[in-house]
Amino acid sequence: MSVIWHADVVIIGSGLAGLSAAWHLRDQRVMVLSPSEEGGSSYLARGGIAAAIGNNDSVEAHVADTVRAGAGLVDRDVAEVLVREGMERMIDLFEMAIPFDRDAEGRLMLGREALHGRNRIVHAAGDDTGRQVTRAVREALMQDEARAPRFLPGRALELVVDEGRVCGVVFENAGQVGVVLAKGVLLATGGVGGLYQHTTNGPGALGEGMALAARVGARLADLEFVQFHPTALLAYVRPLPLLSEAIRGQGAMLVDGEGRAIMAGHPQGDLAGRDVVARALWARVGAGEAVFLDARAVPGFETQFPRAAEALGRLGLDAAQDLLPVTPAAHYHMGGVATDAKGRTNVPGLWAAGEVASTGVHGANRLASNSLLETMVFGARAAWDIGASTSALQTVSMTRIRELERAWSRGIEAAVDPGDVLERVGRTMWQFVGIERSEAGLIYAAQKLDGLRCEVGVYDPARLAIEAAQAIARAAHRRRETRGAHCRVDFPDRDPTLARRLFVQGGLASRVDEHPAVGATR
Ligand SMILES: Cc1cc2nc3c(=O)[nH]c(=O)nc-3n(C[C@H](O)[C@H](O)[C@H](O)COP(=O)(O)OP(=O)(O)OC[C@H]3O[C@@H](n4cnc5c(N)ncnc54)[C@H](O)[C@@H]3O)c2cc1C
Repeated sequence: MSVIWHADVVIIGSGLAGLSAAWHLRDQRVMVLSPSEEGGSSYLARGGIAAAIGNNDSVEAHVADTVRAGAGLVDRDVAEVLVREGMERMIDLFEMAIPFDRDAEGRLMLGREALHGRNRIVHAAGDDTGRQVTRAVREALMQDEARAPRFLPGRALELVVDEGRVCGVVFENAGQVGVVLAKGVLLATGGVGGLYQHTTNGPGALGEGMALAARVGARLADLEFVQFHPTALLAYVRPLPLLSEAIRGQGAMLVDGEGRAIMAGHPQGDLAGRDVVARALWARVGAGEAVFLDARAVPGFETQFPRAAEALGRLGLDAAQDLLPVTPAAHYHMGGVATDAKGRTNVPGLWAAGEVASTGVHGANRLASNSLLETMVFGARAAWDIGASTSALQTVSMTRIRELERAWSRGIEAAVDPGDVLERVGRTMWQFVGIERSEAGLIYAAQKLDGLRCEVGVYDPARLAIEAAQAIARAAHRRRETRGAHCRVDFPDRDPTLARRLFVQGGLASRVDEHPAVGATR
């Protein structure tokens, strides 16, 4: 017999989006469901948080950089919300006494990354920003015991819907099935990098939130836009350690096996956009060459990049002496569950925030370091909206709950080996739905993924990841142009008639629903 919990709000995912939302919902009974404390990308974030707080910076300048990076698809109004309210959310963080890096006079040290026109990246403990910030928010939440959320270990398997409203979630923990019933459900499940063979993302990033939402009729958007980071350390570990752009910013260079500079022919050299550098490396790797980051000239590598140095050390590498083998890797998903600027999806009772959501703020390519800001701004906004919604806890038929429990318990018992499934999904996505895509490759990928889906049962937890992968492959097939992070070798140019976001609804047998105006009608 399973456990049934009741809460005002259940938040699925304990990354920075989930925790930020919980912070703004302290007056409600909140449960945070997540398989582990540190499973998400928030703990791995390296570079920092972008915020227009420098003396020579402005909201307009940060918005302009965000819009430019998004290759014609950014919703400017939402970008403005991000930047303006981002500064307020930074004040929340400053009040939590996070050890942000400061100069000798105590001023915040502001760094710069690709496509930012100003120095505006705030970081903590060098390249350990994500962990420092996420832990601090979690600790702050736990300080007031009476108002702290309840953390529940578990993985969401299905959203409970009654009379068209999402009112809970079925989850699994160590083979046991449980249910949380709530007035509102917030998806904060992060990205999709784990669907790819090479990824910088943690083990939880399998697009499950997206698949859960699609199954209950939520609209998804911009799924084809997956950002590949050019320089992950090529190692036999998962996730791959990230060698951030800041390292190239300090003088490291991408080289081939003979030590020749790979980006020499490009006007911005090693600091060209992520998509450009990733494609240059993909071309070399495709031709059977090895590619390396040469960071030997970077001064004080260990002090500047302690997390990267630690990862290198574990593999017996030393940045001061060795060439570092690198590979591009799936890193960030610009698409996801379509929401408005309050985190609302089109399904009553369901909100989404953070990387799982698609608000239109990133367009076809995310501006580096805007995503931690996004988790805090839209986590807070979703929380306020949920808090203001007046719905009562719905009475759900216990017969139905028991049916769901039984079905999932049997499904889990009969489940296929998830490691094998994920490996097959990963290879297909990497090869055919990765950095370069083509008609033939995408059709092949769709067939492979369809075949895989047929191999697993309807109540097999691995099915969510397969469905998420299928949705991305279909979206990539539909967008017949090259834009931002989406590169179609058979349609190498940007198509002005496709300067719009593409939405999809109805799960896998989807009704194609395109909208002419960027950011319109959600
Ligand atoms: C290596 C790396 C470096 C990065 N560096 C930066 C940076 O410097 N600056 C920046 O702005 N961004 C950076 N990013 C991106 C940024 O970290 C993420 O976009 C952001 O942290 C996402 O936060 P989130 O709360 O939406 O998701 P996450 O932090 O990924 O959290 C998702 C949570 O959901 C849980 N979950 C998933 N599926 C389920 C399920 N079925 N049931 C229950 N729980 C589930 C996961 O276990 C996890 O707890 C980086 C990302 C990576 C991977």
